[in-house]
Amino acid sequence: MRETLNKALRRARSVFEPSYHAAWPLRDGDIAKPALNPQRRCPLFEKLSAELRITIYRAVLTDPHRFLHICRNREWPKRRAWERKQRKVAHLWCMDMDSPFPTWQHACYGERYEQNPGSLPRFVSRCITKTDDKLLSLLLTCRIVYSEALPILYRDNTFHFRGAPGLLAFQSSISTVQWHAVHHIHLSTLYDRAAMFYLQDEVWPPENPLNWEECGRLLCELPSLESLKLDITAQIDARNLDSLLMAALNPLKSANAKVFEVELNVKPSPAVWDRLREANFVTTFRERPENVEAYGTGISLSL
Ligand SMILES: [Zn+2]
Repeated sequence: MRETLNKALRRARSVFEPSYHAAWPLRDGDIAKPALNPQRRCPLFEKLSAELRITIYRAVLTDPHRFLHICRNREWPKRRAWERKQRKVAHLWCMDMDSPFPTWQHACYGERYEQNPGSLPRFVSRCITKTDDKLLSLLLTCRIVYSEALPILYRDNTFHFRGAPGLLAFQSSISTVQWHAVHHIHLSTLYDRAAMFYLQDEVWPPENPLNWEECGRLLCELPSLESLKLDITAQIDARNLDSLLMAALNPLKSANAKVFEVELNVKPSPAVWDRLREANFVTTFRERPENVEAYGTGISLSL
């Protein structure tokens, strides 16, 4: 009797089970792509050429003039249960492209010092980023649309990361195929004395050297990078500047991109260039002002 019931249950389930792996499309490329219904009666595919569909996908999914910030959803403080269920990262179109500050200090991150009468200023951070731009809605309408448009999302946008923590969280939240499809990366970070001596691992910035090395390794494995641009703020006394810059630049030297630029706020000595002479990047110098109103000086954010 029990066996009969189990057979009936399996038959009933099989009617509703999809013919493709449950993890697709989240692991697109890592597992077999399902058979796709050609959707011949859908005007999008029946009447529009591939070129026109690509134009639509680009209009919906990309913006060549703005960073697509990848904001890490920090788990601390865990005040409420819903905060623990958040995804590792959220996206946010840049609203502050003309900012003179280092990119990690953009107003996009919603952080500031709050002045309250009668008490010390309080730093207000945003642990969880909420986005309601429906960027991915089109991708989720149909498997053919997803299959056609997903590469455009990764290929045609400039993904901006706030130091290694943002990049590591993003890379671990998508499939290898999607990660390797990224063509444009901008990364902004701060290196200071603490980053040289492994003194910090719970706050950012500055960079944790171990995270930074892993970040460099992941950048080096990207096969299709068109542009890789970084702005690195170095804060240290002149005596230790070369050591600091070596620690910051060495993990990047083997990455490959058609346009590979590293912007520094200080100039290292010729000895650093001697040791990095095989590096693939070009360096520019720019002293950006600090966003003291929002960050004060020497602020560290909880990871
Ligand atoms: Zn921004």
